[in-house]
Amino acid sequence: MEHGTLAVHAGREDLTALGVHVPPIDLSSTYPLPGVERGGQAYERMASGGRPLDDDSLVYQRLWNPTVDRFERAVARLEGARAGVAFASGMAAISACLLAAVAAGRPHVVAVRPLYGGTDHLLATGLLGTRVTWATAATVDAATRPDTGLVIVETPGNPSLDLVDIHDVVERAGGVPVLVDNTFATPVLQQPLAHGAALSVHSATKFIGGHGDLLGGVVATDDAWAARLRRVRAVTGGLLSPQSAYELHRGLQTLPVRVRTQQEHATVVAGWLAGRAEVERVHYPGLPECDPSGLVGRQMSGPGAVLAFTLAGGYAAAAAVAEHCRLVTHAVSLGGVDTLVQHPAALTHRPVAAEARPDAGLLRLSVGLESPDDVVADLEQAMASVPARSAARELSLTT
Ligand SMILES: *Cc1c(COP(=O)(O)O)cnc(C)c1O
Repeated sequence: MEHGTLAVHAGREDLTALGVHVPPIDLSSTYPLPGVERGGQAYERMASGGRPLDDDSLVYQRLWNPTVDRFERAVARLEGARAGVAFASGMAAISACLLAAVAAGRPHVVAVRPLYGGTDHLLATGLLGTRVTWATAATVDAATRPDTGLVIVETPGNPSLDLVDIHDVVERAGGVPVLVDNTFATPVLQQPLAHGAALSVHSATKFIGGHGDLLGGVVATDDAWAARLRRVRAVTGGLLSPQSAYELHRGLQTLPVRVRTQQEHATVVAGWLAGRAEVERVHYPGLPECDPSGLVGRQMSGPGAVLAFTLAGGYAAAAAVAEHCRLVTHAVSLGGVDTLVQHPAALTHRPVAAEARPDAGLLRLSVGLESPDDVVADLEQAMASVPARSAARELSLTT
């Protein structure tokens, strides 16, 4: 089935037979038990990561929720995966993957920077019992060890939009499962499992939700990993709420249209930025210099709707532009229908070690559904505020 058709219908196959047009939201925290023994068996099945049998009681929402299950099945189909497992947030999803690796006795993680600041921070602190070796895509093979449980990459990477060749990393990982954070690309533009990745992870908060009104995370993977992740979820409780699952499932229906339109707009904005004297460099996979190995068209079907740009005037200029936008909202997050701008070094990537922190002159822009002409006009008036001499402000970071 074509991807746009799947986005509209996946996870809804049984609705007509149920006599409803949209998925019911099951809010039960607990479920009646058919008997002590059968209830106990169902409990055990789900607490160890299995799916309930058709006539099982669902026992308790931390073990299973039908509304969440629909969303998970829909994401799995869009990702070309066997299964999906949803979580309370993108970080809960990534944490579950790390905990599953630790539980399997392989706590070492090879991570390719740049990564989302929260992921970088989680790995750098080793808070979940992991140990990290930072690598580049080309040094993944040298960095893996017998106790390596995961290789983690992000492509496009947050915030500088660097691209990683997933197939190449999978080869270098030599059998170690590769996790790809697919948040920026979405399943519309990139399906990491088709390139050999074991896990495709999303902050569903971003493009999948698409409207800036919820937090969620989801992992698309095979049945064995899904069972491990459901077990971690059942035990640790990083659950997606049924209400949010409903909204995310609805978000999937318009995801292809939003991503393609926002991508068209981002291409216009990137082209405009590239011609501005205030801008030293534009980071966007659609620009040939940002995609030296030709991954757009091969690994990703398009460059996406997020870009970054470095101001020639450094931190002072970047701060001035972010603070003077009017139509564009100065806020973290991305992937929504409205355009957002933020300063990664001061905000999302603040906890990242100095040597890996983004440039102080870099701004990240998530381009929305507004007319790109209006976005460009807003950026143009914001750029008028860039100080002529930009040594006035220094980015101060205590961490
Ligand atoms: C936002 C984000 C995350 C974290 O997701 P939350 O839903 O905020 O927990 C992880 N990876 C990437 C690439 C992100 O942009």
